[in-house]
Amino acid sequence: MENNMINKITSERAIQLEEKYGAHNYHPLPVVLAKGKGAYVWDLEGKQYFDFLSSYSAVNQGHCHPAIVNAMTEQAQKLCLTSRAFYNDCLGEYEKFVTEYFGFDKVLPMNTGAEGVETALKLVRKWAYKIKGIPKNEAKIIVCDGNFHGRTITIISFSDDPEAKDDFGPYTPGMIRIPYNDLNALEIALQNENVAAFLVEPIQGEAGVFVPDSGYLKSAFNLCKENNVLFVADEVQTGIARTGKLLACDHENVKPDVLILGKAISGGVFPVSAVLADDDVMLCIKPGEHGSTFGGNPIACKVAIAALQVVSDEGLAEKAENLGKTLRDELNKIDSEMITLIRGKGLLNAIVIKPVEGKEAWDVCVALKENGLLAKPTHGDIIRFAPPLVITEEQLMECVDIIKKTILAF
Ligand SMILES: *Cc1c(COP(=O)(O)O)cnc(C)c1O
Repeated sequence: MENNMINKITSERAIQLEEKYGAHNYHPLPVVLAKGKGAYVWDLEGKQYFDFLSSYSAVNQGHCHPAIVNAMTEQAQKLCLTSRAFYNDCLGEYEKFVTEYFGFDKVLPMNTGAEGVETALKLVRKWAYKIKGIPKNEAKIIVCDGNFHGRTITIISFSDDPEAKDDFGPYTPGMIRIPYNDLNALEIALQNENVAAFLVEPIQGEAGVFVPDSGYLKSAFNLCKENNVLFVADEVQTGIARTGKLLACDHENVKPDVLILGKAISGGVFPVSAVLADDDVMLCIKPGEHGSTFGGNPIACKVAIAALQVVSDEGLAEKAENLGKTLRDELNKIDSEMITLIRGKGLLNAIVIKPVEGKEAWDVCVALKENGLLAKPTHGDIIRFAPPLVITEEQLMECVDIIKKTILAF
């Protein structure tokens, strides 16, 4: 009876409820999802779609992956939360697993990507004062134009997106912003001896999948090393096989001093984030100096182990590498003046849309939805194409057909 009542909610009603009772801090595409499996999602009326956003690359392993969901439901029946006031029987096992998986000495577990970034910022500041010897409160962190690292006050303080930033001041000081993909600007900024760290996305996802020149990350890393500055990679979106390697930094054999992960580390099943570093950096933070009630909780630990295991068992990095090439090749064959640019790496891709007769990226996404594929515009004219990495080649070719048909109809 109760179940039936819930199922009777229509998409229209669900949207009305969000509009009336929820804060208006998002502008979703008008589709109400009720079910997901692998690369597919279904709306309340039962219409099937390909998910070409994957919850901003959180669902790399596909929706409701049984191995991950099982890990969660099994643990949820035993023990959910202890806080870090006590030990629990899952955290140590997870910490061993995740540090070996990514090749670092230590991990600091958090929940969301933004918390991971905040943790990394605190960690590099501690290191600046305790190890590098920067005078108290003088530490600087270099960041890039067009960055997206989350939504906290400190993080938006160094954003250059007015929508994310305006009227949220006063802002956190201590940041130097330079152009992305500009080694010269980095070299100049590094002349300041109070620089503790360089925080960078290996590919700028939110900015519209900006892929830097090949060699940029390696050279930036080397410049940091020459100046005793920590290289901090925010791989919350690019990490966990999305770009065709386990980490986007792996394309250039860069091992960051501090690595931030989130999103797909749980396969989108549960909020899990992590900061990884070696002992010389991580041990700068002492008991009591940082933490999180939910960080490292037993469910998160079990879920993350299962999610990372899926990535290796199913060879998702190689899949992303190969299918990404296929996708870009096929998109390049679409003969439309509306597509002005196709870029990406692995299965993190974007097309840039030139409006035709007043029809923009948003209209393309609405039409894609009608044709059974969900994608979302970013920064007005860019559409990100990032399906779950478990998508098959056959399914991907179906998606290409949908995209082609939709674009050519404009
Ligand atoms: C999504 C994202 C974040 C923030 O993650 P949340 O879980 O939304 O807080 C940080 N950095 C990058 C690169 C992201 O894509």
